[in-house]
Amino acid sequence: MRLVLVGPPGAGKGTQAEFIAAHLSVPKISTGDIFRSNVSQGTPLGVEAKRYMDAGELVPDEVTINMVRDRLAEPDAAEGFLLDGFPRTTPQAAALDKLLADFGTALDLVLELVVDDDEVIRRLSGRRTCRGCGKIWHVEFDAPTREGICDRCGAELFQRDDDKPETIATRLREYSEKTAPLVDYYGAQGKLVGIDATGPVEDVTVRAIDALR
Ligand code: ADP
Ligand code: ADP
Ligand code: ADP
Repeated sequence: MRLVLVGPPGAGKGTQAEFIAAHLSVPKISTGDIFRSNVSQGTPLGVEAKRYMDAGELVPDEVTINMVRDRLAEPDAAEGFLLDGFPRTTPQAAALDKLLADFGTALDLVLELVVDDDEVIRRLSGRRTCRGCGKIWHVEFDAPTREGICDRCGAELFQRDDDKPETIATRLREYSEKTAPLVDYYGAQGKLVGIDATGPVEDVTVRAIDALR
């Protein structure tokens, strides 16, 4: 299955992507994770992306599209994938359609996680990520047993630089200006399914998996 997850920053895309990708046995491709990994390794792509990420802005389409093109060409994505955080603009969506058409395939479904702004702000301000395994935690809604330590792998948790209040505001603005139009784009293709992404993580996962059938 070829699936895209859309929704505002903090909607729970990364959290759900992990369960959904495991359920479907497809690779999870998160552009945010790939950018962050390039930033921490200091690659040229990371150096370029960091300026935008720190400001809460989207990385330019050309850079992002080239990166995704390379990733989708890897053998593990041939039979299906779950894209988390891409596309985020109409040109990215059009480039993805073109890329898949060149491979002789197309997206099956776009799953929209629907959450309001107040909830998104609560989720982003308490988000913590594991430095070791990348698992996503929340100080209040999904807290580890020992503060600041990942239950799964024992490594230290950190707060993302872009989860600061000023940057969150910019990211939400970028979302409504540049990403929200994708709902109409995929709606017009008949591929969009929206689900309520509030409530416990497990309930959202059940709704997401139901929507795939
Ligand atoms: P969140 O999960 O909070 O929405 P991500 O981890 O997906 O955030 O993305 C973090 C940052 O990486 C974004 O604010 C943006 O700067 C950059 N980024 C990720 N995906 C894209 C994309 N598809 N297009 C442009 N920039 C992106
Ligand atoms: P993850 O499994 O951590 O979500 P991926 O499997 O998508 O990430 O990518 C694994 C690693 O490969 C990342 O750490 C990233 O640095 C690197 N990577 C993947 N695709 C690209 C690319 N197109 N350009 C640069 N680095 C990439
Ligand atoms: P995104 O990838 O869309 O930015 P994340 O998956 O990183 O979102 O989730 C943002 C924050 O919200 C994380 O701290 C995560 O633990 C928390 N979270 C995710 N889903 C839920 C939920 N259903 N209820 C409460 N908190 C959640």
